[in-house]
Amino acid sequence: MTNVNTSAAGRRERVLRAAVRQGLLAPDRAVLAAFVDLDGVAASVRALHAAFPGAVSVLHTFAAKANCLVPVLRELRALGMGCEAASAGELAQALAAGFAPDRIVFDSPAKTRPELARALELGVAVNADSFEELDRIDAVLARGPSSSRIGVRLNPQVGGGRIAAMSTATATSKFGVALDDDGNRRRLLDAFRARPWLTWVHTHVGSQGCPPELLAEGVARAVAFADEVGRTTGRRVSGIDIGGGLPVDFRGDDTGPGFDAYARRLQERVPRLFGGEYRVVTEFGRSLLAKNGFTAALVEYAKTSGGRSVAITHAGAQVAARTVFMPSDWPLRITAHNPDGSPKAGEPVRQDIAGPCCFAGDLLARDRPLPLLAPGDIVCLLDTGAYYSSTPFHYNSLPDPAVHGVRVGPAGDIAFEPLRRAETLEDVLARTGG
Ligand SMILES: *Cc1c(COP(=O)(O)O)cnc(C)c1O
Repeated sequence: MTNVNTSAAGRRERVLRAAVRQGLLAPDRAVLAAFVDLDGVAASVRALHAAFPGAVSVLHTFAAKANCLVPVLRELRALGMGCEAASAGELAQALAAGFAPDRIVFDSPAKTRPELARALELGVAVNADSFEELDRIDAVLARGPSSSRIGVRLNPQVGGGRIAAMSTATATSKFGVALDDDGNRRRLLDAFRARPWLTWVHTHVGSQGCPPELLAEGVARAVAFADEVGRTTGRRVSGIDIGGGLPVDFRGDDTGPGFDAYARRLQERVPRLFGGEYRVVTEFGRSLLAKNGFTAALVEYAKTSGGRSVAITHAGAQVAARTVFMPSDWPLRITAHNPDGSPKAGEPVRQDIAGPCCFAGDLLARDRPLPLLAPGDIVCLLDTGAYYSSTPFHYNSLPDPAVHGVRVGPAGDIAFEPLRRAETLEDVLARTGG
């Protein structure tokens, strides 16, 4: 768990030290903060764009739920990304970040009639999740045309990955139209026959825990279905939205299989995807952001309990809900630092790294060997750029921490910019009816 690549670790340490020097992390005042490495984000986006064949029309959208902070979305837009929104709130964030409607994809399993009408009026791409939703779209379009690209989400039923809650293409998944259920394929072909506006096919097999082979298998089934539409209905599918889901390796600083390896796998398994007949949309989230963020928290107290060392920190379930509630599925690396941000030396001691929430399970790690932590030290949770501090859990009315963007200048100077300010107690009262 501690095999850290020195350059990524060195960069984090420099950022942490600068954050301490600039008061972004300070006892009593700023006890918890999150950081997003905007240079790293740019590099990830470049790697994604470079991975897919240049001859194919590809729109890479960022799945907003992975990091919904509007300045982060704005940054991604400036880097050439589109945006995938899976709720009305994320659609509002995408629009606030300045994405053109035709570079936004609206996916949600529970779109209301007004949400559908708004998306179609804006010209945002829409993927219908069910036959019932296609009927609702009929009703909206009967009132006036739309420039939206409209698709239907298929559940290719390729089975689950390592984490059941993240597997969206199981036999009984709540998402999309189950392709192999009795009669569905025929109903889908009829839907394409009957609806000239239905021109896209969408699939998203799952997120973390789904290996690239499984993702590629789902995409292959979606493309095979699009081919079948072309062969049997006289209609032509114009594009395939292949979703996201590329897993991230949370054990080290390696970036995992990578976009290029995944694109190569797609090319081998589904050559028709890149054959030029279809336009392509992608919806990656975690694989673009996870490695480009970390969360830092002060250690407030350190104690022993039943002989076990416990560090009470300010990071817990409120910023790391998945890790706290499903620790075996979502382990995070944790690094120990002195109050000035330098790495803490010392023999590893097995200790629990606890958060501030009032329930016993609020532990970031159990029995984790780290130099013995003391009050005033800092712990960093690594790889939290996606699905962590940007998606808080409001247990115990803990305030959301500040999120700082980071850029490193040519001379190694570190510049922070606010991505989200820390909530005040007034903010907490406001969101609790006070
Ligand atoms: C969550 C989600 C994504 C992004 O998944 P990642 O694992 O973050 O890449 C893409 N598309 C849809 C429909 C999703 O629900």
